[in-house]
Amino acid sequence: MKELEERIRRDGVVKPENVLKVDSFLNHQMDVELFRKMAEEWKRLFTNEKINKILTIEASGIGIACIAAEYFHVPVVFAKKAVNVNIDGEVYSSQIESFTKKRIYNVVVSKKFLNPEDNILIIDDFLANGCAVMGLIEIIQEAGATLSGVGIAIEKGFQIGGKLLRESGIHVESLAIVDGMNPESGEIYFRSQP
Ligand code: 5GP
Repeated sequence: MKELEERIRRDGVVKPENVLKVDSFLNHQMDVELFRKMAEEWKRLFTNEKINKILTIEASGIGIACIAAEYFHVPVVFAKKAVNVNIDGEVYSSQIESFTKKRIYNVVVSKKFLNPEDNILIIDDFLANGCAVMGLIEIIQEAGATLSGVGIAIEKGFQIGGKLLRESGIHVESLAIVDGMNPESGEIYFRSQP
């Protein structure tokens, strides 16, 4: 998606250790007009998939997932980061290793909001090593639901997540794929996509 690439080039900040900061339009201040265009694009890309629910993870996935939900006309469920897991058996849970914070945390979704009839689109802001998405897939599997696809705003194509997911046959659509970043010059290289 050209407009997203241009925005990343203009406002993205390349940090050390392969971290791209997009706080001015995606992760802190949010450009909802841009989110609408992203949602339209996901709607087009997943037009042939059966989708009745969107699943994301707190916090930075929630904004984009909510706008996407308006276009898909489905509810959004977000996985919550939790200290105590499954004490009373009322939640599905998985463990996720945070790429940016370098720690492992639990995420949970109430059993009330996922069920075997659900066809789920995962939406998230970034795809790096794929831990966040794989944690959400684990939760979908626990619920006996079906994964219809994964919609990502920014994939870092030089990390392994996208390759792993696509190789296992999952329909992944990333609106911008960064294939390289130079922390010294701040340059960002995008993969050309159809
Ligand atoms: P993964 O689990 O695929 O390794 O990383 C994805 C998660 O880590 C995303 O939910 C995102 O919040 C965070 N993340 C990974 N890489 C970056 C990055 O370069 N910039 C930002 N802002 N977040 C990232």
